[in-house]
Amino acid sequence: MPSRRTLAVTLAVIPLLALAGCGSGDGTADSGQAGETATPTASRFTIVTGAYPVEWLAQRIGGDHVNVVNLTKPGAEPHDLELSPQDVATVADADLVIYEQGLQPALDDAVTSEQGGPQGAKVLEIGKSADLTAPQGTSIGAGHSADDGHDHSADDGHGADDGHDHGDLDPHFWLDPIRYESVARAIYNQLGNLDQVNKQTFATNLSELSRELTTLDGDFSAGLRQCQNTSIVTAHAAFGYLAGRYGLTQVAITGLAPEGEPDPARIAEVTDYVRAHNVTTIYTEPLINPAVAKTVAQETGAATAVLDPIESLTDSSAGQDYLQIMRANLETLQKGQGCS
Ligand SMILES: [Zn+2]
Repeated sequence: MPSRRTLAVTLAVIPLLALAGCGSGDGTADSGQAGETATPTASRFTIVTGAYPVEWLAQRIGGDHVNVVNLTKPGAEPHDLELSPQDVATVADADLVIYEQGLQPALDDAVTSEQGGPQGAKVLEIGKSADLTAPQGTSIGAGHSADDGHDHSADDGHGADDGHDHGDLDPHFWLDPIRYESVARAIYNQLGNLDQVNKQTFATNLSELSRELTTLDGDFSAGLRQCQNTSIVTAHAAFGYLAGRYGLTQVAITGLAPEGEPDPARIAEVTDYVRAHNVTTIYTEPLINPAVAKTVAQETGAATAVLDPIESLTDSSAGQDYLQIMRANLETLQKGQGCS
């Protein structure tokens, strides 16, 4: 047993040495270690991403060996990202671009023009690792499931025709810790292939992250197991995977991407749904004007609470990370749905 401990200590020291060489800046110390990677000096591996949840994963796995750029600035809504010529150049110069096709059309275009599309050597398209499905939830607009708020088979395609046209698949995989963990694994694989020298560090970072996400999943399962109400009424349809994972049904005021003012007919439908299903809390988002949600709440006597889809860091989440915001979301849901 003592020898095993010695081994563990030795393994822990190696990444630290590699780290010291990597960030040292004067390029003299690490020429021996760097070996086949053609970057003998301080320039860290640059990863370009388009949204905070991807940025956070890349940073957690890459640690000090990577420089992660998020093209969506904190407080901005990522769905309608627009890229400046400088941003396009950043995509072109990246050592790795990690993106989700369909989430941000401008980034899709830049990846195609600058990096040869999803199959490019320095590109990781993460949607294929996330097991994306058609939007899940109750499609009250079409009328076929307005009265079955507890029908969790609603993920069989009901949601696909509910009036938004932002692609066929729900991109919001990060709100489901299990899907998020799968994507973390894909990022680790790609990063390890591109930077073999630091692969062991990435593996260590991944296993710590996986543990945290597994714990988070367990806490959501336990925390949402017994709720008085399982219908969640949200501002935009970001919470379908979360709802599906934990036995909830999502009704979104707008579609997969926030789209400005919904029409009065839609607001009336949601209002009817809230009354019919005794929904007591309407969820708003930090980056969406809460006026419509507040109108529905006032008309029905429901309260409002902020549920964060974690698409960007915002004023209210500044200084927190994904895990902390998810835990705040869990508390908000437990309160809003009457969970015990
Ligand atoms: Zn969204």
